[in-house]
Amino acid sequence: MTQLDYKTLQKLDAEYHLHPFNDNAALAKKGTRILTRGEGCYVWDAEGNQLLDAFAGLWCVNIGYGRKELGEAASKQMTQLAYYNSFFQCTTEPTIELAAKLAELAPADINHSFFVNSGSEANDTILRMVRHFWAVQDQPQKNIFIGRHDGYHGTTMAGASLGGMKGMHKQGGLPIPDIHHIDPPFWFADGGDLSEDEYGLLAARRLEAKILELGPERVAAFIGEPIMGAIGVYIPPRSYWPEIERICRQYDVLLVADEVICGFGRTGQWFGSQYFGFTPDIMTVAKGITSGYIPLGAAMFNDRVATVLKEQGGELAHGATYSGHPVCAAVALENIRILQEEKIVERANSEVAPYLAQRWAELGEHRLVGQARIAGMVGALELVPDKRKRAFFPERGTVGPVCRDFALKHGLILRATWDAMLLSPPLIISKAQVDELFDKTWKALEETAGALG
Ligand code: PLP
Repeated sequence: MTQLDYKTLQKLDAEYHLHPFNDNAALAKKGTRILTRGEGCYVWDAEGNQLLDAFAGLWCVNIGYGRKELGEAASKQMTQLAYYNSFFQCTTEPTIELAAKLAELAPADINHSFFVNSGSEANDTILRMVRHFWAVQDQPQKNIFIGRHDGYHGTTMAGASLGGMKGMHKQGGLPIPDIHHIDPPFWFADGGDLSEDEYGLLAARRLEAKILELGPERVAAFIGEPIMGAIGVYIPPRSYWPEIERICRQYDVLLVADEVICGFGRTGQWFGSQYFGFTPDIMTVAKGITSGYIPLGAAMFNDRVATVLKEQGGELAHGATYSGHPVCAAVALENIRILQEEKIVERANSEVAPYLAQRWAELGEHRLVGQARIAGMVGALELVPDKRKRAFFPERGTVGPVCRDFALKHGLILRATWDAMLLSPPLIISKAQVDELFDKTWKALEETAGALG
């Protein structure tokens, strides 16, 4: 524990620490919030404020804060064998056990894991592995990935390129070659007079049009988040993913589900693909795999892809010092044990999610809310100037942060993307805490409406 006071810590932070996804000059003036402790769904800052974390850190603390078992699993593994790699024809016990456990949990025949340290690296891994998969089958030209504008697949060169965030593309000359994007499925802004399901088909068929434009013999894979998180929790219509799957099968394009947010229970199902009823060939996972207690990600392949990589792939020229780190694997195993033994995903789905959906819909009644969308334990409130119209504020992104700051004042952490208030609480949130979430969000909405005049 540090002996430094809050102001000194803030000063040191401003001077020596560059924050991701922040205007660092503005942050230095405002001063960072410094978190010191977490328990269940709450965190405390260094000034002693208790905050209900309705965003689970960064969509990741699925089992909640303060589970000592995870610390004990890390400590036990560190003491026994702190590190060994999976290069040199070696590996470690927890790494093997985790790979087997993931094969048991993952849908269909997605049975093979390649471990990395984050979601971004997992997406980098699939880019390289998928291109290799086609190349060793005499189709090196089948190397194009299609993602979505406004999608988020991480922050590395490949991750940011697969994603479609304009601000990220602007910095560093992205996307890298042979990555294309189609428009995202966002009925609220783009659906016009179509029903959600009609629009879902239309949005999915943009993929078919893009494949035909590029030539199916050139398109290696399509990648998508089952629910587009970072851009504002875009929950696609039910018709979207099955149609995407049909198109991928028709043109022999591999289907990659980026499950970094949705995986490990976020939608009330173990994986987002199960929530939407489609079967990917490949998925990437991170975040909830350890509930954020330690960094870990995995690229997971089905039998078809893995068999080619194993039997025709030769040496995989890819890997990181910490691929399959035993301590991370031990923590992931303990996290999954808790999720399974305490039936956290199933209970969230059957007990809390319906109540959360009901209360979220009540928030949707507020005059500032144009749409209250929710899928299991992830949702968004789209704040709008006129509730009767599906249109954004003229200066998009000015109102969300105001609402976020009012929520913070009341001890509630929600994230704002543009003018959408994003929700992604620990899966263990109770009904009483859902009520607390409701009351604080309503107050924040009222104060935001007041500030708008
Ligand atoms: N994919 C999705 C859908 C994400 O939301 C994120 C991070 O938020 C990533 C990938 C990148 O994961 P990481 O930040 O662990 O690199």
